[in-house]
Amino acid sequence: MNSTLPKPDLRLQRENRAVISVRNLDHYFGKGQLKKQVLFDINLEIKSGEIVLMTGPSGSGKTTLLTLVGGLRSPHSGSLKILDQELCGASSGQLVMVRRQIGYIFQAHNLHRSLTALQNVRMGLEMHGTLSTAQMLQYAAEILEEVGLGDRMNYYPEDLSGGQKQRVAIARALVSHPPIVLADEPTAALDSKSGREVVNLMQKLAKEQGCTILLVTHDNRILDIADRIVSMEDGRLISS
Ligand code: ADP
Ligand code: MG
Repeated sequence: MNSTLPKPDLRLQRENRAVISVRNLDHYFGKGQLKKQVLFDINLEIKSGEIVLMTGPSGSGKTTLLTLVGGLRSPHSGSLKILDQELCGASSGQLVMVRRQIGYIFQAHNLHRSLTALQNVRMGLEMHGTLSTAQMLQYAAEILEEVGLGDRMNYYPEDLSGGQKQRVAIARALVSHPPIVLADEPTAALDSKSGREVVNLMQKLAKEQGCTILLVTHDNRILDIADRIVSMEDGRLISS
């Protein structure tokens, strides 16, 4: 691959440093009488290259924690450091900078219906602003080959199966080689075979690119890809 794409930070890997560090994090929704605490004193440290799975019942706070770690909402109290950047009290500009270093994979693939697979994956490179259109298309095509969709590049989402759409979403999340990937129930809408393929692929790309993965799942069939499993219960994190 071309040198203009960010390389995984090998220094971080060598030093085995925490790329995600959460300390005494609380979070609330609502105001006044309706104010409700949904996260209680969360502590979590994830090192470079680790694959951590998070399980737990619906409503226990998993998605809320993931959106905080991803800089998609602002933490209220405690400390949340992503790649050494403190997000608690961070400006919206700082949050944007952090988001650029994260690949997101959601339960619903969130592909643009009016764009082909290739164009959707290209979107994952557009925020970098340093690549020409031809380079972006080249990298998008290469990663689509890697996820086994070399013959589907010009298909629109509606002409792809659920598993294929989710593979496009994975390609889009990983094409920029982000140091961190956050995935929220990425296999929930898939049959067991497609679900397995999708996580194997995430694991392979993560190990090759040295990225850190935090993945929320209810799916017991994929727990073996984890280096570590944590679970959330009523807004509290329990390590196992
Ligand atoms: P999970 O992903 O584990 O199912 P969530 O993080 O989505 O859990 O939700 C945790 C709790 O926070 C739930 O009680 C949910 O109703 C509440 N909640 C989630 N998002 C919001 C929101 N935007 N506004 C108010 N309450 C919310
Ligand atoms: Mg959720």
